[in-house]
Amino acid sequence: MNAIAGLHHVTAICGAPQTNLDFYVRALGQRLVKRTVNFDDPGTYHFYYGDHVGTPGTILTFFPFANAGAGRPGPGMACAVAYEVSPAGFDAAAARLAAHHAPGAAVGERFGQRVLSLVDPDGMTVEIVETGGAGGAGDVPHFFHSVTLCLAAPEPTARLLTDVFGYRAAGEATEADGATRLRFVSGAEDAEHGAVVDLEVPVTRRSGVSGAGTIHHVAFRAGTDAEQVEWQQRIAAAGFDVTPVIDRQYFNAVYFREPGGVLFEIATDPPGFATDEPVETLGEALKLPAQYEPHRARIEAVLPPVTVPA
Ligand code: ZN
Repeated sequence: MNAIAGLHHVTAICGAPQTNLDFYVRALGQRLVKRTVNFDDPGTYHFYYGDHVGTPGTILTFFPFANAGAGRPGPGMACAVAYEVSPAGFDAAAARLAAHHAPGAAVGERFGQRVLSLVDPDGMTVEIVETGGAGGAGDVPHFFHSVTLCLAAPEPTARLLTDVFGYRAAGEATEADGATRLRFVSGAEDAEHGAVVDLEVPVTRRSGVSGAGTIHHVAFRAGTDAEQVEWQQRIAAAGFDVTPVIDRQYFNAVYFREPGGVLFEIATDPPGFATDEPVETLGEALKLPAQYEPHRARIEAVLPPVTVPA
């Protein structure tokens, strides 16, 4: 275990829950694999989208705050999440998004790969990157390709990625707007999906605002509880203030703030989303952790009703 294998999940803030569900299920073709509540704020939903079983590396999650003000990304925040897809899947995804009138969809190129960039209904940037299939990219975008962190000064974050996480520098590019993009790729032997972290140094330093349409944190994978503890120790040894292990029902989590300001998490692959309901019916019922089950009636009364699109 000399490198982190890649992304486990990405968590963002959104506005109206039904709008979020409609977009990610209908337009982007994701499956709602868990409908639960924010464990730190049980009057708010926590939606998890992923592939059919909720494989680590496919999980995009949202806290829908009905009254969340609009946020905007800026230095110290993750500013985009990208899925990977095969060349055939890229064109299919573009057609599907056009049919659903997804706003802002534009195709560009980055490090020699086609990138479809769009914004979700809350203004969050979601990208689809065409990969050659060597990484196992399927025809439907489920697996992550990368996350982009917006940073005023990328060096300390770059050192964390290379010296602690075991990533290697994999290129530098200048964007059309003059921003600099530094790419880092996991050096893990089993790195397959979501193995890329891009650091973007924007031209303007307009500060970000946390709110709907912004990414809350970025979680990386640990294969086992033992591996998670080892990463926790390495992160602490590197001088970061890392939390104890927290039970998140579907994985265990530790958190720390990386030097550029983005909240990072290390999450375990097990136990996964089929731990409290069968794979066939994932996401259909509101699932609550044991500590909130006695308060189910009260929690259900405050959560806005939603319909999961077929
Ligand atoms: Zn998380």
